[in-house]
Order: sequence, then structure tokens, then C-alpha cells
Amino acid sequence: MSTLLLKNGTVVDPAQGLHKKLDLLIADGKITGLKEKISAPDAETHDLQDKIVTPGLIDMHVHLREPGQEEKETIKTGSKAAAAGGFTSIACMANTDPPADDVSLIKHIQEVARRHGIVNVLPIGACTIGLRGEFITQIGEMQRFGAVAFSDDGQPIGNAQVLRKVLEYTGMFNSVVISHCEDKALTNGGSMNESALSTKLGLPGIPSASEATMVARDIEIAKNFGRIHLAHISTKESLDLIRQAKKLGAPITCETAPHYLLLTEEAVGDYNTNAKMSPPLRQEADRLALIEALRDGTIDIIATDHAPHTLDDKRVEFNLAACGVSGLETALPLLYTHFVQTGQITLERLIELMSVNPARIFALDKGTLKPGAAADLTVIDPRLTKKVDKTKFYSKGKNTPFDGWELSGWAAMTIVGGQIKYTAEKGVWLKA
Ligand SMILES: [Zn+2]
Ligand SMILES: [Zn+2]
Repeated sequence: MSTLLLKNGTVVDPAQGLHKKLDLLIADGKITGLKEKISAPDAETHDLQDKIVTPGLIDMHVHLREPGQEEKETIKTGSKAAAAGGFTSIACMANTDPPADDVSLIKHIQEVARRHGIVNVLPIGACTIGLRGEFITQIGEMQRFGAVAFSDDGQPIGNAQVLRKVLEYTGMFNSVVISHCEDKALTNGGSMNESALSTKLGLPGIPSASEATMVARDIEIAKNFGRIHLAHISTKESLDLIRQAKKLGAPITCETAPHYLLLTEEAVGDYNTNAKMSPPLRQEADRLALIEALRDGTIDIIATDHAPHTLDDKRVEFNLAACGVSGLETALPLLYTHFVQTGQITLERLIELMSVNPARIFALDKGTLKPGAAADLTVIDPRLTKKVDKTKFYSKGKNTPFDGWELSGWAAMTIVGGQIKYTAEKGVWLKA
């Protein structure tokens, strides 16, 4: 396998407390050198002057739609989108058709990923058969064959006794449950945040309590029965509960997504279905609380909840439209431009949220550029400024509320296992 030498980049690796200009040598898929001046005459050399080199970004919450809904996305198109967005590893949720609720599906996803995946594709197994929240799956077996976590995402596990059983099993295998916190009775067919605006627009609302009551329940269950990671947190009330619970040592972690940090319910505006999400976009006070929680450590991870849909899924009346945003290709520049460049969080913190913490929480052997580690790297170009153009997405899902936004800090190069998979100049490509 070839040798790669990356020269003059600013290496930012919070796992080693590093932020300095260094050369980086890669051989046989691993990082083999990291110091001030490396010379390797035979290596393929790239000058990364003015660029930032970080541990590869990891997105633990992605919907790849394969098997079953290949018109929305495939493992191939989704992992291309990931590479273009600077992600080197993505974990795919189990709510495919059929759901990934047994070993054969986990093996199938891995096999397709081996053949067509551009980045590391890590399958998440379902917690319950058919995501119906009734009978638990063969958690140990699925983990043995590669499931990195367990989740019924898309659906909450409504029955607390079932969730308890799931946790008792995942605990035995030292795995993590990712919980979609939603009280369906309170959601009650709603399609946007419940507020004066939903009344004005005549749309059925989803109260904050739909999320917060389940967060409160999950905290109590986690305290008693095992570790839970709370997906896509969107409200101030949830964050207050999580902050308090963490202070008391509850075994919980949580994530939010870029759209909750950047948009409010106002984005629904003229019934824009690209602003329809589950959970829904909330209010400015929630958005500000999320930013505060990024800073104080209440939020552990930023995940995209990449949810690609066809045009037809979104080009219908608001109540009938599918939920979600195609998020892999915009997450890094959105967060870099609006939070790092504005000084609201440091670059180190962003890399913690998008690489170090996902690796730590899900026990992945990633999230650092230490010599010996797998050569999964993201190169960021802080000077590259361009507009989001959804027609250029590698993802089949063009559903984004960020089309036309001018952003900086795009991925300039994505390296997975020592191989360059994406450059800003050439796009996604596979080296021969
Ligand atoms: Zn969800
Ligand atoms: Zn999701």
C-alpha cells in the first residue's frame, strides 16, 4: 500500500491536546509519523499549508435507506455524501425496510458496505423486532457480527419494561442504546413545534413535553438499568434535565443536530417542508440553550440525523411530508462558519463533538491522530467559501433548508484507512 506524506498542515487533535503545524506520515493504512519535519522521498506528498488536519469526523446518526428505500439513498450514495462532507465513519440506523433487526441484515449491510462503501459504514442494530417496541432482538449476536450500537430510531420504545430488558442485554455486551425520545401520545399527529406560530399556520403542533417527558423517563431508567445515548435533543427543557442528571452521575450522553443549532420554527414559514423534522425545529430560546449546552459539555456529540428523501416525499402538503434533512454534506461548513468562525466554540470543541466523543462513547478505535491509529483524517479548508448547492449533492436526498447559504470551512480532503477518498478539486474518487 502506498505511503502518504501530508506536509505543513495545522494539526488539531484534542485527544492529544495538539494544535500545531506538523507533518504527518501514513503507511499501510495507519498513521506512522507525526512531527515537525518528516522527509519521505518515496511518499505521495501533499502540501496542506493553510489547511487544518483533524481526526476523521464520525457521524453516529445517519439513515442510509438501504435495504428497501434505495430511491431515497443507498449505502454507496450515502457514503459518497459522507466523504464529501468530511466524514470518515458513519453509523446507519436500523429503520430500513426490512429493519436491521437480526444478524442476516447486519451481515448484508456490511457486505454491501464492503463492496460499495466509500467511508467506514457501521451498522446499528434494532432494539426490538420490526422496531415495534415489543420483543427484543438478538443483541449479543448482532454485536458479535458488527453492530456498533442499538436503536429503534424513528420510533421511541414506549414500553419502559422493554427498554429495561434491552439495557440489561446491551449492558452485558458493553454496548449503547440510542434512544429516540418522543411521547407519541403527546406528539398526537403533530407536524411542527406547538406554539403561537403553529396556531397561526393552522398546523397541528408537537409540544416540547413530547421530548422532555421521554428524556426524563430515560434518565430514570438509565440510572437504574444502564447506559443510554439520547438522540437529536431539541429543547431547553430536555437540556435542563440532562444537565442535572449528568451532575448526579446518571449514565447518559446526548447529541443534537446542526439544524436545531441554526434554525427555529420560523423556518417553516410558508409551509416549507424542508423545515419539517422529527423532533420539530423549536424556538429561539431552545436554540440558544443548545448553543450554551455545546459550550458547557451537556451536549456530547453533534450528529447529522442525515435523512434523505425523494422530491415527491417533500413536495406535498406539510402534514403529509416526510421528516428530515439531507445533512452529511453541509454539517461541517455550517458548524465551522456559524460557531467556530464566530468564536462561540473553539475548533477543538467542534472536533471533540464530531470525532473524539463519538469514538469514546461508542468505543470505536478512532478519534485521534496518534501514531499507530487508523489513518482516518479530515482536512478542512478554512478559506474555501462557497454556497450550498443541493443540485451538486452526492446524496440522493436534495432535501435541505440550507440551500444557497454561503459557508466556509468545507472539507478539502477526506482520507479513510490511509486512502484519499475525496478532494475538493476532484470530488469523491477511489484511488486505483
Ligand atoms: Zn429519531
Ligand atoms: Zn434519525
